[in-house]
Amino acid sequence: MTIDQERLASVFTTLCEIDSPSKQEGRVAAYLKSLFTEMGAEVFEDDSARRTGSDCGNLFVRFPDGGLDREPVFFNCHMDTVLPAIGVKVKRQGEVFTSAGDTVLGSDDKAGIAALIEVMQTMQEKKIPYGPVELVFTTCEEVGLLGVKALDPSNIRAKIGYALDSSGINRVIVGAPAANRITVEIRGIASHAGLSPEKGISAIHLAAKAIARLKLGRLDPESTANIGVIAGGTASNIIPETVLLQGEVRSHSVKQLQEYTEHMRLTFQEEVDNWSDPAGNIAVRPSLDFSIIDDYPVMKLDRDSAAIKRVQAAAVSLGTELDYVVAGGGSDANIFNSYDIQCAILSTGMDKVHSTRETIKLSDMALAANLIMAILA
Ligand SMILES: [Zn+2]
Repeated sequence: MTIDQERLASVFTTLCEIDSPSKQEGRVAAYLKSLFTEMGAEVFEDDSARRTGSDCGNLFVRFPDGGLDREPVFFNCHMDTVLPAIGVKVKRQGEVFTSAGDTVLGSDDKAGIAALIEVMQTMQEKKIPYGPVELVFTTCEEVGLLGVKALDPSNIRAKIGYALDSSGINRVIVGAPAANRITVEIRGIASHAGLSPEKGISAIHLAAKAIARLKLGRLDPESTANIGVIAGGTASNIIPETVLLQGEVRSHSVKQLQEYTEHMRLTFQEEVDNWSDPAGNIAVRPSLDFSIIDDYPVMKLDRDSAAIKRVQAAAVSLGTELDYVVAGGGSDANIFNSYDIQCAILSTGMDKVHSTRETIKLSDMALAANLIMAILA
C-alpha cells in the first residue's frame, strides 16, 4: 500500500504551475476534469460561477464502486491560491519545493489536490479496495469562502469528510471560530477647522473616542476582536465629515461572538448619541452606520464524531499519532459543517503559506497521502 512519490512530485509541480488565483480557477478545473474523467470518475461542475464571479464552478468528482462497503466519505480542496500567483515556477531541491521567489508556491491547496490524485491512482493501479468517495474542489476559498458558500450541499452524498487544507504534519483541525466582519461608518459635518469649527462635527473624533473604549485583541480564551482599517477626512484644515472603519470579531462561542459584536456596536452608538453641540448652532446630529457580515459559522467536532473516529482509526492502522488542534481561522470546513456535513481539516505538510517563502517537503505530502489512503481502505 505505497504511493509513488515521484509521480506525486510531478503532478504537484504541474498543478502549481497552472496559475489559479481566486476567480481564475478555470484552467486547474479543466485539468482535473480531464484527469478524473480518464480515471473513470463521474465529474460535474456546478453553476456557482454566476454568484462567485469565478471563471468556473465548484467541481464534484465521484469514483465508481471501489468494492468496499463503508460509509461514504468526501475530501475537499480549494483550487484557488493567494497572490502573487501569476507565472508560478516550482523549484525543487531534493525533497523541498519552493517557488522561484516572486510568487507563492501554491501548495495551499495544491498539495492536497496532488495527494488525492496520487491516492486514487495508486488504489486503482494496485486494485486496493476502497469505500465510496467523492472529491469536492471549490473556488474562491481565499477571498471569503465564496465557492463553498455558493455550493448546493445536496450535490454531496457523504455525510462526513475532510478538507486537506492545513499546514503541519499529522494534524487534524477539529475546531475553528465563527467570525463577524464589521464595517462602521460615522458621519459628522465638514467645516473649516480654523474659521468655523463651531459648525462642524468631527467623525474622526467620535470614532477615536469609541475605539479608545473598545475591547480589542484577545478578549477571552475563545474570542478575539480587531479594528484593522481606518479611513476618513480630506485635509488638515477641514473637520472630517466621514470616517470608515473595518474590523472583525471571532469566537469559538456563538454567544460570545454576539456579545462582543454587540459591545462594539453599542460603544460606537453611545459616542454618536452622546455628542452634544456646545454652541447650540448645529441643526443636525452625527449618525452611525454599523453593518455586520456573518463571515463564517463556528466549527466544532467531537472526538466521538464519525469523522474523527474514522481518521483516528486510519492513523492507528498506520502506527501514526495525530495532533488534534483548534485553529484560529475560518475555511471551507466551517461552511461544510454548517451544511450538517461533518468536516475535519487535515494537514498536508505545507508551510509558510500565503508568502513567497511558501514551501513543502515531498515526504510530508506523502504522509498526507498515506493517511487519506488509510481513511479510504
Ligand atoms: Zn488553503
